[in-house]
Amino acid sequence: MYGLADKQLMKNFSYINGSWHSSATDFVVTNPVDNSEIIKVSNAGVVETQLAVKAAKNSLKMWSAKSANERAQLLRNWFNLMMQNQDDLGRILTLEQGKPLAEAKGEIAYGASFIEWFAEEGKRVYGDIIPAPSGDKRIIVIKQPVGVVASITPWNFPNAMIARKAAAALAAGCTFVVRPAKQTPLSALAMAELAERAGIPAGVFNVVVGEDARGMGEVLTQHPDIAKFTFTGSTGVGKSLIQQCASSVKKVSMELGGNAPFIVFNDADVDAAVQGAMVSKYRNAGQTCVCTNRIFVQQGVLKEFTDKFTKAVSELVIGNGLTQGVNIGPMISATAVADVDKLVKDSIAAGASLVCGGKQDSAGENFYQPTILTGVTNDMPIAANEIFGPVSPIISFNNEDEVIAMANATEYGLAAYFYSRDIGCIWRVAEGLEFGMVGINEGIISNTAAPFGGVKQSGNGREGSKYGLDDYLEIKYLCMGGLDK
Ligand code: NAP
Repeated sequence: MYGLADKQLMKNFSYINGSWHSSATDFVVTNPVDNSEIIKVSNAGVVETQLAVKAAKNSLKMWSAKSANERAQLLRNWFNLMMQNQDDLGRILTLEQGKPLAEAKGEIAYGASFIEWFAEEGKRVYGDIIPAPSGDKRIIVIKQPVGVVASITPWNFPNAMIARKAAAALAAGCTFVVRPAKQTPLSALAMAELAERAGIPAGVFNVVVGEDARGMGEVLTQHPDIAKFTFTGSTGVGKSLIQQCASSVKKVSMELGGNAPFIVFNDADVDAAVQGAMVSKYRNAGQTCVCTNRIFVQQGVLKEFTDKFTKAVSELVIGNGLTQGVNIGPMISATAVADVDKLVKDSIAAGASLVCGGKQDSAGENFYQPTILTGVTNDMPIAANEIFGPVSPIISFNNEDEVIAMANATEYGLAAYFYSRDIGCIWRVAEGLEFGMVGINEGIISNTAAPFGGVKQSGNGREGSKYGLDDYLEIKYLCMGGLDK
């Protein structure tokens, strides 16, 4: 069934306190290629979410008391199992999300790499001893797990957005509850199956899947037993979840939307820039938070870049992600296609020129053709909004100051990219861009060792890297007095 080597990885119940939990009703998970049913999944809601929080709370003492080495061994088992089952996990991901299988398998390796990384990093949660203001005292700083962590994740990276959070939380000694997007619960449940096989104890990693995003979200943002809430998703939803967390003053991390500028200066290696723009724009059919959203090209290389980029885009193959050689799968829904198409049509009406694409593809109602627009200006809606689809608006510019100002003229601040070979320009632009991550002559920037996250309305907190663990740790200050004879 589904072409899986291990059929036990296709689960359709929530995973709570080490058990598979059925609910009174079901919901249907569909394949975005043709909207066909993949499987019916038991529809958990508020009650099941409360049970999951209770399980996480009850297992917290046991999990946090384990040594970092013991936790690392269990996380390492989980990592190994994910990599051993990479093909099946990739297939499940492509079925429910649509991205090409090679990309899906890449996401599994990327997600698993965070589990491996944090398994080790958890051994390096060091404290501190600070010189005290008087001789009869000592000041000691220790770090402790924040407690129960709750999380809500989006459909565009159904595995990695969970792995990146859960790995750090579990390594720090926290227990975890995740509610994945209703379009993509299957990757999350497969992760739970492997967590169980890895020996991660009941209650430490819980997955609740259900349609009631709002109701489940209220539990996860307001329950008094939850110490920290971490969200990946749109800025609009993130803002309301922050407000909900305020009632119990939870520690909060937000990985929100982006509007990445991709800047090509006259002195850039244009071929490298084209390659960088292709991967940063068309991966996952343009549906990633760090996807290039606006391409700024300096006048001197505008024609060369546009011609080469158009040639590369015209070679992209659209189709079912399970078919060998496909680069562009379906978008997540027909609504997403309609939203992107409206941005394109509105831009053309406002004076932009269509170079290629610009419409739904004959492959199906969820497919949109890879598209390039030229003559775009930074005040058009397509430049102001997160496109989240396979569309590249090209905006020309004259000089460095002008392009930095245009790039920064957005409420978002997640990723930015630029191509130049002038060392002075590189430093000035890297420091001038108001974004949390900057790719310099690079179109793919995320990895375990690097701090992933945004500034401005793209969120707060960092995932991955040595900084990523801090989001799951509290600092405790011990003042030891009375040391005089
Ligand atoms: P979304 O609409 O904000 O949904 C994200 C998650 O929030 C889903 O699980 C969704 O559940 C849930 N949700 C929606 N409304 C909710 C509510 N009122 N209460 C509780 N939960 C609620 O975002 P999306 O369209 O799925 O994902 C795309 C967005 O995520 C983009 O803006 C993208 O940039 C951002 N993103 C950011 C990062 C990053 O690291 N910065 C990474 C990936 C994606 P349902 O889907 O089940 O309704």
